[in-house]
Amino acid sequence: MSPPVFRFAPSPNGHLHLGHAYSALLNFDRARETGGRLLLRIEDIDATRCRPEYESAIYEDLAWLGIAWETPVRRQSEHLSDYRAALEKLSALGLVYPAFESRAEIAKLVAVREAAGPWPRDPDGAPLYPGDAKSLSTSERTRLIESGAPYALRLDMAAACLRAASLSWNEQGEGPDGERGIVTARPEAWGDVILARKEAPTSYHLSVVVDDALQGVSEIVRGQDLFHATSVHGLLQELLGQPAPAYRHHALIRDGEGRKLSKSSRSTGLRELRAAGATPASIRPLVGLD
Ligand code: GLU
Repeated sequence: MSPPVFRFAPSPNGHLHLGHAYSALLNFDRARETGGRLLLRIEDIDATRCRPEYESAIYEDLAWLGIAWETPVRRQSEHLSDYRAALEKLSALGLVYPAFESRAEIAKLVAVREAAGPWPRDPDGAPLYPGDAKSLSTSERTRLIESGAPYALRLDMAAACLRAASLSWNEQGEGPDGERGIVTARPEAWGDVILARKEAPTSYHLSVVVDDALQGVSEIVRGQDLFHATSVHGLLQELLGQPAPAYRHHALIRDGEGRKLSKSSRSTGLRELRAAGATPASIRPLVGLD
């Protein structure tokens, strides 16, 4: 049997903090315990927020922590054609449509819907896509595309769920409400998610699923903030004919007030802790590891 494959997949849009250290160390420890491989993936599709200096800092901070990973590192921005190919596969199934509303227009539409009554929100708390671009005629779509109007590509969730009913995944960690074992996926809770944006021919959901399959990742260890996104990932894996990895979601490290750490919270940044005299060995107990 081939060894299990793990990955740590940060976005270079800020400096790593204790929460990242926890996730990276859990992946590293688990790879070592199981005789597995550890990959590092740089999730840099958002060109407006990602910066090369953050990427260099990721390598430096992880090496300082004593973590070793395989090279070459996969940088998502260098693999846009892989995401395009997956998008074409989903399009060929008739599951993708262009939506032309700007962010401001979407916010307005949500306000209109909410004025009429409660409007559903996704598990992250964002309102579901309120538009009706799905019902535009082919000629109207073509006209808008040819006129140069910017658009995002969305997944037709209702049609996708019909093709891939009763999905579940194997949760070896724990969801935010104690979910474990076989968890029923509820991708419909996310509505017609974006698969590609006008700035980049992909999205977080699409690229993470494509990469995990291409890299042969067999066990995904990541924070509970991504637990519910697993429903969408399971759906895309099924539609794209990919194997489903096992998932091990872990609790999030929180600050003194119980808030999730952010890349801008200075007191828990690895660089700040290092400058204040922390050693790699002192980071482990800070995140509850031996
Ligand atoms: N790039 C994502 C993040 O930094 C993690 C993706 C994942 O682990 O699935 O939050």
